[in-house]
Amino acid sequence: MSEAVLRAARSAVGFMPDDEGMALHDAALSVPVPGPLVEVGSYLGRSTLYLAAAARARGGVVVTVDHHRGSEEHQPGWEYHDPGLVDPTTGRLDTLPGFRRAIASAGVEDVVVAVVARSETLAALWDRQAAFVFLDGSHTDESAGRDYRCWSPHVAVGGLLAIHDVFPDPADGGQAPYRIYRRALESGEYTEVPGCGSLRLLRRDRPPAVPGSA
Ligand code: SAH
Ligand code: MG
Repeated sequence: MSEAVLRAARSAVGFMPDDEGMALHDAALSVPVPGPLVEVGSYLGRSTLYLAAAARARGGVVVTVDHHRGSEEHQPGWEYHDPGLVDPTTGRLDTLPGFRRAIASAGVEDVVVAVVARSETLAALWDRQAAFVFLDGSHTDESAGRDYRCWSPHVAVGGLLAIHDVFPDPADGGQAPYRIYRRALESGEYTEVPGCGSLRLLRRDRPPAVPGSA
């Protein structure tokens, strides 16, 4: 069952190499604490499908949030712009129809909870511990920093914080995800476990510090 979902993930459009997607899947599957999987940055569902396969095997769900208007690099004139994703009615990027098609075609609508919103809006409403939080939204410092601040407190002790596109060498890519990865390590709340490529995995060992108590 989850083999078919993983095959669908491999053929979906997106920014997740298969080895990193499999590492994402395996990590989400192995988390020993209960709770949903959370993804920030659904795009066209590729990474979501790796997580959906894990959710199905865990008997749980993946909640994935995206405003579906694209990140900076997806906008017209930028490196990862796809003109086919522009909604002619609004003139804006819209990845939601393609995302739904990918999730429906893979047969995982029952385990994928898609939230169309800004990540920080959902985080402010969120009131339970997540077993796994995967950050893969916008890669500006402001946005990546906000995602870390908003979502890190929701990672259960024993759960995992996963961060994508972590490139220690600026020659390999933008530094915002690397900076939040450093911040998480420096918080003293996480221990790094083996990741894959630009995917970093951090296990929460201690509850989040209460703001203002330090
Ligand atoms: N995880 C996907 C790629 C995500 S691309 C894959 O591996 O295939 C990043 C996504 O983050 C884009 O779809 C963009 O719309 C979304 N995004 C950027 N900033 C956001 C924010 N503040 N809230 C919600 N989604 C955001
Ligand atoms: Mg990414």
